[in-house]
Amino acid sequence: MKKRDLRSLYNLPLEVRFCRRCTISNQRPRITFDSEGICSACRFQEYKRHMIDWQQRDQELQQLCDRHRKSDGSHDVIVPCSGGKDGGFVAHQLKYRYGMNPLCVTWAPLRSTEIGRQNLDAFIAAGFDHILGTPNPRVTRKLTELSFRHLGDPFQPFIYGQTNFPLQIAVNHGISMIMYGENGEVEYGGDMKNAFSPTREIADHNKHYFSRMPPEYWAEHGISFADLKAFMQPDFGAIKANQTEIHFFSYYKYWDPQENYYYCKEHTGFTPNPQRSEGTYSKYASLDDRFDGYHYYLGFIKFGIGRATSDTAHEIRDGKIDRDEGIALVRRYDGEFPERYLDEFLEYCQISRDEFDAVIDSWRSDHIWLQASDGWELRHPIWQERAIPA
Ligand SMILES: [Zn+2]
Repeated sequence: MKKRDLRSLYNLPLEVRFCRRCTISNQRPRITFDSEGICSACRFQEYKRHMIDWQQRDQELQQLCDRHRKSDGSHDVIVPCSGGKDGGFVAHQLKYRYGMNPLCVTWAPLRSTEIGRQNLDAFIAAGFDHILGTPNPRVTRKLTELSFRHLGDPFQPFIYGQTNFPLQIAVNHGISMIMYGENGEVEYGGDMKNAFSPTREIADHNKHYFSRMPPEYWAEHGISFADLKAFMQPDFGAIKANQTEIHFFSYYKYWDPQENYYYCKEHTGFTPNPQRSEGTYSKYASLDDRFDGYHYYLGFIKFGIGRATSDTAHEIRDGKIDRDEGIALVRRYDGEFPERYLDEFLEYCQISRDEFDAVIDSWRSDHIWLQASDGWELRHPIWQERAIPA
């Protein structure tokens, strides 16, 4: 299988460097490092901690809610929520603290886990109106296979729905506000364009979330528009006519995933997984889908950034662990192969193990990987980092 040119596809720097403060490297797409070797996410954390007047942001949130609040009992905000700790926190705050009437929407996982379904049920039972969007599973399955083969990310169909289903419901139900949790680009490193703004431009979706391949792209691979429709954005004119606004709760409230977890344990019946997720040490983030391990694993192959790197990087920024602990955790867990659901994943995508391996290896870039006699090795693991000139 033909090697992919990762560096030009994602505009990656040739030399792998790590942030001096967290564990993220300069290979994360769209992240920037400053002259002191600190990443944009760490700089944003500083800003968030010291510069933002959170009381003023709270007032902005109240004004926003007042502007969208409806008096006839109909829903006035859409909260995309899987039943996990983040959407649960947002929905509960909006409903019980800000007096909104949220309609919570979930886009079905490719294949749910028991703990994910249990948490979603507990969340709904905590007092929420809820809609589950389940697209034709045959189409999802085909799109998963195609995205795995062609984009090196089996999660793309899920990401389409996660992004576009709330917009469809907003337009269909005449609800003009959608409230997401955090702005990942800003919180975890990426495009800082929206760092100082509460909203997201719908025009950026294609760039940030769809690897520039919107659902329509797959029509070329023999999937009909009727089958793709559920994954697609509503007509842009309809989005505009509805005066749809997408907001991030992390703009209005100090965003701390671990605190969200404690909050949801108390208020929405959230239960962590008894076992840690493969590729990391955590038990309470991204628990809903049996196949998300392959999404994270491909991130590790493409960028050398696995699930433990992402988890430690934000926990260092949040002050939960220090950098040395983070590096030890990365060394121990990052890039652990997601074995648990492998057979199920291969069967779901209808591919053989050899094909699977060939796809994985096609995404290994020479500037990140070295083929040693006993297998693949990272050229620049963080635990062997060279001193970075200040
Ligand atoms: Zn950093």
